Amino acid sequence: MPDEPTEKNKWDRWAGGIDCPMCQPRPESNEYWDFVARLNISSLYLSKNQTYRGHSLLILDVRHATRPDHVSFDEWALFCADLYAAEKALMQTLQPDHINVEMMGNVVPHLHWQIVPRYRSDPRWGAPVWTTTRNEMTVTALPQADQIDLIRKVRNATNKEALPD
Ligand SMILES: [Zn+2]
Repeated sequence: MPDEPTEKNKWDRWAGGIDCPMCQPRPESNEYWDFVARLNISSLYLSKNQTYRGHSLLILDVRHATRPDHVSFDEWALFCADLYAAEKALMQTLQPDHINVEMMGNVVPHLHWQIVPRYRSDPRWGAPVWTTTRNEMTVTALPQADQIDLIRKVRNATNKEALPD
């Protein structure tokens, strides 16, 4: 299949803002996330993979951007303020032993933070959560009622207006 995009040229297309899966309009729910709250310049989503309870993504809303130098300093400052609010909400809601905040863009090159609460009991305590390939990651889905309850608690803790359902 000569037209089948390879992983590499898919990344290049997405980095150029073509068919980027994190650009707006963005689904409130898909196989990867559920919407939690709209913040100043970004939106918070609870990951469908809850191996690390509270694992969330904070995705830049205003435009496609791949790296920090693609946004203005004021936009970057607002994005960091949103990260602060999201991290604090997750810490208050879940009281994990630690929390990881990571910006990589190796899979989806659109500015987003991975916010990963860490627990002494978690499968990779003392090490990064990321293994060598995504296929090696442990995947844990919560029962739907638990996922919805967790979304509500984190949303309340952000002290921000959520989008109407
Ligand atoms: Zn994008």
